[in-house]
Amino acid sequence: ATPAATMVGSTISATNGVLFKGADILERVRDIDAVVFDKTGTLTHGDMVLTDVVSIRDGAAADGVAADGSGEERPDGGAIVSDERDSTVDEDDVLAVAASVESDSEHPLAQAIVEGASERGVEIEDATGFENIPGHGVRAETPRGEALVGNRKLMRDNGIDPDPATETMERLEREGKTAMLVALDGKLIGVVATADTVRESAKETVVALQDRGLDPVMLTGDNERTAHAVAEQLGIDPDDVYAEVLPDEKADTIERIQGDDRRAIMVGDGVNDAPALTTAHVGIAIGSGTDVAIESADVTLMRDDPADVLKAIRISEATISKVW
Ligand code: ADP
Ligand code: MG
Repeated sequence: ATPAATMVGSTISATNGVLFKGADILERVRDIDAVVFDKTGTLTHGDMVLTDVVSIRDGAAADGVAADGSGEERPDGGAIVSDERDSTVDEDDVLAVAASVESDSEHPLAQAIVEGASERGVEIEDATGFENIPGHGVRAETPRGEALVGNRKLMRDNGIDPDPATETMERLEREGKTAMLVALDGKLIGVVATADTVRESAKETVVALQDRGLDPVMLTGDNERTAHAVAEQLGIDPDDVYAEVLPDEKADTIERIQGDDRRAIMVGDGVNDAPALTTAHVGIAIGSGTDVAIESADVTLMRDDPADVLKAIRISEATISKVW
C-alpha cells in the first residue's frame, strides 16, 4: 500500500474514488500513449435534451429557416406543390411520430425525444413492432403509419433519400447537436435534434493529457460533423476524431488506434463501449455507466468525472515509484 492507494481484496481502491481491479492494472495505466474517450456520456453529460423539431415538406424545411428558400428544384426532383397529406404534417406531427417510436427505446436520444414531446404537450401514440437498429436508429408501426427515426444511413438503407433535409441537418450538426431524420410510410417528414453539454472538466483534461504528451482521442457513433464540433470545443485534434463508428466496430477501431506499438486507455460508459474497454490496453469505466461497461473495465471512476483519468495516471505513477 502507498499513501495513494490501499488494497482491498484484489481491488485497489484509491482515495477519491478511482478503483483499480488489480495491482497489475496500476502498472499498465502508466504505460500508455493515447486516451480514447467515448463522446456521449463520457466527455459530455449524456443527458440530452430535445432542441429542434423541423418538418420537411417536398424537400424543403417548412420552418422558414432553411433548406430551399430559393424555390429551386429539389435534388430528388420532388413536386413543389404539397399533396394533401404532406401539407398537414407540421412540427408537432413530426415530434408525435418520433416520440411514438422512441417510447420503446432505451437510448438516451430516445429519452430526450419522449421527454421533449411530453413537455410540449404532444401526445405519444402507441406503437407496435418496435425494432432497434444499433448505431442507426429505430423503427415501429405507429397509428399514423410505418415510422423510422435515425441517421442518414438508416434512411438510405430503407430506400428513403435524406438529401432534402441536408441543409437542416448540417446546420444542426455544426451546432454540435445530434440531428435525426423522421420518416413515415417511406417519406421523409422531418428532423428532430438533441443537444448535450460538454462536462466542465473535459476540456482541462484534454489539455492536461496533451501537456503530458498523451493524445486525447474521441470515439463516437455520432456523425462526423457533430463529433468535430464537440472535439473543437474540447481542443481535440480533428485527426484524432473517430465518428460514425458502429457499436460492433468500436473494438476494431481501438486496435487501429493502438497499431503496433501504441497503447491506449479507453474511457467509456455504454454497453456499446464494453468490447472496446476490453480491447484497449486499459479500460476505464465511468461509475454511472452501465454494469456491462464496469464489468469490462480495468478501472472504474466512482465520480463521473473525466478528470479522474488523470488521477488514475498520477496514482499509477506514484504507486509504481514506491513499489520499485
Ligand atoms: P453513441 O456513440 O452516441 O452511443 P450510437 O451507436 O448509439 O452512438 O448511435 C449512433 C447514431 O445512430 C446516433 O447518433 C443516431 O443518429 C442513431 N441512433 C441510434 N439510436 C437511435 C435512436 N434510438 N433513435 C434515433 N437515432 C438513433
Ligand atoms: Mg455512448
